[in-house]
Amino acid sequence: MSNEHTPEFDLVVRHGHILTMNAARAAFPDGFLGIKDGRITAVEDDRECLRYQTAHEIDATGCAVLPGMINAHTHLAMTLFRGMADDVALEEFVSRLTTEEANVLTPDTVRRGAASAAAESMLAGTAAALDMYWFSEATVAASADYGLRVVSGPTFANFANPDPRSFAETLRDAEEQLAGFPAGDPAAPALMPHSTYALTRKQLEEVAGLARRHGCRVHVHAGESKREVAEVRRLHGATPIQVLDQTGLLGPKTVIAHAVELDDGDIETLAATRTSVAHCPWSNLKLACGVAPVGELLEAGVTVALGTDGAVSSNGLDVWSAVKLVATLHKGVSGDPALITAEQAIDMATVHGARALGLAGELGTLEVGKRATLQVVDLSRPHFEGCRDVWSALAYSARPSDVRDVIVDGVQRVSSGALVGK
Ligand SMILES: [Zn+2]
Repeated sequence: MSNEHTPEFDLVVRHGHILTMNAARAAFPDGFLGIKDGRITAVEDDRECLRYQTAHEIDATGCAVLPGMINAHTHLAMTLFRGMADDVALEEFVSRLTTEEANVLTPDTVRRGAASAAAESMLAGTAAALDMYWFSEATVAASADYGLRVVSGPTFANFANPDPRSFAETLRDAEEQLAGFPAGDPAAPALMPHSTYALTRKQLEEVAGLARRHGCRVHVHAGESKREVAEVRRLHGATPIQVLDQTGLLGPKTVIAHAVELDDGDIETLAATRTSVAHCPWSNLKLACGVAPVGELLEAGVTVALGTDGAVSSNGLDVWSAVKLVATLHKGVSGDPALITAEQAIDMATVHGARALGLAGELGTLEVGKRATLQVVDLSRPHFEGCRDVWSALAYSARPSDVRDVIVDGVQRVSSGALVGK
């Protein structure tokens, strides 16, 4: 910075170990990050001779500074039902949940459930989420109050659910809503066909047609369990991934949740269509669904982001647990201790997440011009003692409660581990 021009910032974060997560993996062990108008305007080595003006300053000595986590698959308002279906199989889980949902869910209860989920997410450093649930507008609004950016939109399913609209009505409303956004606008609603077992081929094709016309994102459950794959084969005569491919639902704007049960052809199809996967290891283990072939997916070049799934299947919404699990589980299953390194796991929770949500130009890395959306993680606590590597500290030792500060679009939402202004 030159002496003639003193830069002005709204907020400065100094002396943290900044992990930019950019393509070159630039890191600044004693870093300086400047924010103006919600965007990052400086990220560099801190030097005592720096001259600048700022309204606020955060001292991040002893902390890591990294992008906010992105939760690539969740049902936020399911916090209303946490602990309601533990230690049962997926089918029993779904039956208990859908009964309860029919009794309880209204836009108002969804708003309450989502508000508490947004608080939980924000305190754990999560800045954005891809959410599939009924009354999605209530979730988006309640989450925004806490700074949590939610990509969501109408869910389509033929099973009994709290949304009184028919498939055709939901489709028509979605078309009307999408008409208010320019094609491909990342702020536009996403379309959420629940799964290939919950819709007919014709319905899946209609959702695909609408998504194509408006260039919007699509989020769908697929390949969660062996039983699902058998059911879809019975209904549609193909695997869930094949059905999605045949009905035009796969592509670079589509995110598949789970993808546990895939055959080799399915992995090739996901790679060829540049479809992203939201891997939810905690939910998959708890519901005894199995382990997604994440090593093979990454090897094939598929974007694999991390999700928590809803609080009924995972009982918690922190992406940190998914990071720790993804960096250990696949080693154990494959016998390869080098599979999914600590750094790759953090990458999946940030860079891959932003790509999956269509927000890679805005989030997922700390670079000049991007939204100032980041977390400050306190690495000075006893359980980090002796740690020699920042990636190792974050992936293997960190806990969600180590998130000290969270900034979203330049606004501090968490300070010293507490929600700001809540
Ligand atoms: Zn789910």
